[in-house]
Amino acid sequence: MSDSIRTIQVHTRPAYAVTIGSGLLSRCGQQLRDVLPLCHVAVVTDSTVAPLYLETVKQSLAAAGFTVSSYVFPAGEAHKNLETLAGILEFLAEAHLTRTDCVAALGGGVTGDMAGFAAAAYLRGIRCVQLPTTLLSAVDSSVGGKTAIDLKAGKNLAGAFLQPAAVLCDTDCLASLPAAMFADGAAEAIKTGVLSDESLFSLFETGRLETDPGSVIARCVQYKAGVVERDEKEQGERRLLNLGHTVGHAIEKCSGYAIPHGHAVAAGLAIIARSAEALGWTEAPIAGRIAACLAKNDLPTGTAYSAQALADAALADKKRAGGDITLVIPKRIGVCELKKVPVTELLPIIAAGLEG
Ligand code: NAD
Ligand code: MG
Repeated sequence: MSDSIRTIQVHTRPAYAVTIGSGLLSRCGQQLRDVLPLCHVAVVTDSTVAPLYLETVKQSLAAAGFTVSSYVFPAGEAHKNLETLAGILEFLAEAHLTRTDCVAALGGGVTGDMAGFAAAAYLRGIRCVQLPTTLLSAVDSSVGGKTAIDLKAGKNLAGAFLQPAAVLCDTDCLASLPAAMFADGAAEAIKTGVLSDESLFSLFETGRLETDPGSVIARCVQYKAGVVERDEKEQGERRLLNLGHTVGHAIEKCSGYAIPHGHAVAAGLAIIARSAEALGWTEAPIAGRIAACLAKNDLPTGTAYSAQALADAALADKKRAGGDITLVIPKRIGVCELKKVPVTELLPIIAAGLEG
């Protein structure tokens, strides 16, 4: 693994830096001194990540002069809900955080989304820093400022935009990540390749990723940063990042969130690629190549749920705008486009992408 440190600037309002490299958690206190006043930092993390990295982070923050407290919630998407959010908010109040203090989200996308939302809501918004520990949160969720919780009706239905004050991505954390969770992050990185970068996609096709995850993370973050800078609040271009997610979210929901986000997105990506090809929307055949790449990275390329079940789940989701739904359609590897279709067409579109 390369131990070079990479920094990517995200030019949103406010602007922030994403720093990627080895050993960053044990230096997080010093790193954050550059962007934060000496304040109270409340570290929010989950029950799996806490025993691995919480002490390292607390010690580094305290050594740099920050006041530190921490809140641990039970790991897993099933806890990305109102109850956990309430627990975090009550904790922030009991710990007397003020408007000049900061929340640090230490963990994967579930932690980042919930701690970020709590920071956005507490006192109408305090600062948040993201310390991603999964490949998925490193390549995707820690950057861009989207925060959310799930409601019974679907994924990410309540949330806020809050750009972090900084993102510190310690690539050493990937060493403790189980293989299936590494694959979840690969799914979002492969998505980025299909959206924008055939050479990034090819890295996953040939399976040369493990040699330098820092460079893969940097390429994904660089792309996402550009999209977010141009369309911070998802009025247009940013919707491209939802490639594979309409069907992916439906799969997650049908499974009661037993299927993790990255696996569901992989299946959603394979399905929309097959639909697009079957309906003549791609420039050339691409579905086979996308499915082979996903399979090579131990990701699913289909689902056992029916088109009807998936369409029903998807249409309860927030991406419905009036009578239309906006889908992200791959044209070729590296180029996708938004396509608005009537909600009544979603069922046949999904059906066209299911195997067998
Ligand atoms: P996660 O946060 O649940 O992490 C997966 C599992 O890995 C958890 O059990 C966690 O405790 C464990 N874990 C985390 N870091 C570890 C490490 N270093 N070693 C060992 N175990 C570790 O899930 P995720 O896959 O990181 O993120 C998925 C979530 O991200 C979904 O809720 C999705 O909606 C959200 N998401 C948000 C955005 C956004 O822009 N905000 C983008 C993509 C995904
Ligand atoms: Mg996603």
